[in-house]
Amino acid sequence: MTKLECRQIFAMLSEYLDGELPPEMCDQIESHIHGCSPCVEFVKSLETTIRYCRRMALEHQPAPLPENLKAELLASYRKSCGLDS
Ligand SMILES: [Zn+2]
Repeated sequence: MTKLECRQIFAMLSEYLDGELPPEMCDQIESHIHGCSPCVEFVKSLETTIRYCRRMALEHQPAPLPENLKAELLASYRKSCGLDS
């Protein structure tokens, strides 16, 4: 399998955030992210958000990432990977 590119990651990110991807796909996304500096920067904020959401889910009902938060993350990701132009 060829190396994933930022825009491929981006295309799957929404499903990734929703936990809808199979584990092996999550692994591929994560391994790309850790070897790619724009993605590293992005994922720092992403991980904070995910931790926050998981903590909320433990205390309350399991809930998907709020749509506005997800849109914000996707926008900042697109910008950091230069996909905005
Ligand atoms: Zn990347």
